[in-house]
Amino acid sequence: MSETLLLAQLEGQPEIFYSLQGEGVSSGVPSIFVRCSGCNLQCHWCDTEYTWNWLGTSFPHAKDRPGAPAKYDRRSVQVRLTAPETTAIIAQIPCDNVVFTGGEPLLQQDRLAEIGAALHAMNQDYQIEVETNGTLVPSPEFDAVVTRYNVSPKLSNSMMDRSARLIPDTIQWFAKSQKATFKFVCSSEADADEIAAFETEFRVSRRRIIVMPEAANQQSLDERRRFVFEICKDRGWRFSDRMHVAIFGERRGV
Ligand code: SF4
Repeated sequence: MSETLLLAQLEGQPEIFYSLQGEGVSSGVPSIFVRCSGCNLQCHWCDTEYTWNWLGTSFPHAKDRPGAPAKYDRRSVQVRLTAPETTAIIAQIPCDNVVFTGGEPLLQQDRLAEIGAALHAMNQDYQIEVETNGTLVPSPEFDAVVTRYNVSPKLSNSMMDRSARLIPDTIQWFAKSQKATFKFVCSSEADADEIAAFETEFRVSRRRIIVMPEAANQQSLDERRRFVFEICKDRGWRFSDRMHVAIFGERRGV
């Protein structure tokens, strides 16, 4: 019997939906998104904080207001499914690019490996992408089913301790994997300097670095897009827009 997978819940259903990949190296690719619940980081500006910012915790968040912290009742934003149940939902959608996202999907990589293997048993053409914060090393079983890692290391603008967000051995693992690209959100010159320091420290080719504006809504995206465009020109990094933020703002499940 398969262990259950913790997924985000949206309107009473597991957050599994069909859309276009909105950012990064496969931007624009029709994709099925599977949003895992739970994260091992608590980034200050996280735009999926409903996957980890539970009532009863004291993590600060940019959406906090005096007397009104941005907290969620875990029972209303999480749902449990088995790997076969999750596989069955994915298989009903006529699309062969699957994106495991979160939260942090690698916290549940054993169950995701089971889903990936089941999908490949049905159809070898399935491509499996993983959005990860790059703090957990994939197991051989999980790596065997993954096509692409969209690694998003966090900068100090996340307000997380460096020791939690940048684990050298883990970053080196992804740097050695030809399946990985590194995607950063940027809102200042200081952020750009940190990305450059990452490039040097971990010897990651700038061809594998993708930078996009930090933005949780259309207004902040409009304000930062041009700035990040110029940063990418100056530093030789690949620019990525935030398609979902540009089109849908803060809407979920789109
Ligand atoms: S790692 Fe990603 S999901 Fe986790 S808190 Fe940071 S931005 Fe949110």
